[in-house]
Amino acid sequence: MDGVSEGPTRARLGRLELPHGTVETPQFMPVGTNATVKALDPADLRTVGASIILSNTYHLYLRPGHERIARLGGLHAFMAWDRPILTDSGGFQVVSLGDLRVVDDDGVTFRSHLDGSIHRFTPEHAIAVQEALGADIAVAFDQPVSPSSPAAVVLDATERTHRWAARSLAAHQRADQAIFGIIQGGLDPALRAASTAYIASLPFDGICIGGLAGDETPAQREATLDVVVPLLQDDPRPRYLMGLGSPLDLLEAVHRGVDLFDSVLPARVARNGQLWVPGGRINIRNSRFLDDPRPIQDDCPCVACTTFSRAYLAHLFRADELLAYRLATCHNLTFTLDFMARIRSALRAGTFLADLPSLRLRARRVTANEAAAQSA
Ligand SMILES: [Zn+2]
Repeated sequence: MDGVSEGPTRARLGRLELPHGTVETPQFMPVGTNATVKALDPADLRTVGASIILSNTYHLYLRPGHERIARLGGLHAFMAWDRPILTDSGGFQVVSLGDLRVVDDDGVTFRSHLDGSIHRFTPEHAIAVQEALGADIAVAFDQPVSPSSPAAVVLDATERTHRWAARSLAAHQRADQAIFGIIQGGLDPALRAASTAYIASLPFDGICIGGLAGDETPAQREATLDVVVPLLQDDPRPRYLMGLGSPLDLLEAVHRGVDLFDSVLPARVARNGQLWVPGGRINIRNSRFLDDPRPIQDDCPCVACTTFSRAYLAHLFRADELLAYRLATCHNLTFTLDFMARIRSALRAGTFLADLPSLRLRARRVTANEAAAQSA
């Protein structure tokens, strides 16, 4: 990856050259958990501006099965998406979704959240599943723990993650697939630094920053990034903060040197009727939108804003119509991906620091009611 950084920001422009296309960074990956970004088809995904999506190894392994997807030509052919895909390692879902899980040094035994059947992931198996799926980027198997876990738990999981990183690398064979390693270390600066140094010492194609976007505060997250990123200062490999999704969080993480993100957040809140607009957000279920003839956002190029009114969206949500989910998801992903494009434009123009205040204003999380109260 080509990288440049300048000035008192660690934000940088980059480009990932992958088998299914080029990804400009900083970039956000919509999440297609079950080989679909919920409510959208591939044409919608291209229209909202997605250049790469994430899909979940754990879910596809359980259903429909990685071997079936491989027999059907791999994940790109199966879901008819011809641009880049990253698959996660399954570690997060194994730990967070399984109601029974036993972690030992060799791997994790867990019970399927679908049918209760017992399964086992090791680093070697997680890589084999990802090679069968055939995404452009695979991720090493790790043991994530929440930021607030006790120190001994974080230390144990971090050391195991390091052993599993080396095993994941050794198991990975596909030359047409990149593999990223994952830094853990919780919120402890010394352990984070040690994890960063170890993972960066291995010949991964990219560096994931794990164990954040959980129950930490923004200040704790930023302090952790201020430990990790300076240690990678001259490292051109992409830095990927897993699981972060709100525009303001994305902006602050880019400012601290992160290149790549994924989250279900923009799509999940869209399906609840929360729509992101410059300077805030609106809840389209609010009755005051039932007579509002304006688009969600005046200058938005998405299908919802160029075709329909807030009143129509408000009606669709109240009537539980399926179209509501597609339109709202298209809008929030368009907003998020356009926001990343604005960040890249500012970096390209050399105006990122000067533009930070206006970018922060565009990304702020207040509701329309709160914004009206603030400007009154
Ligand atoms: Zn829109």
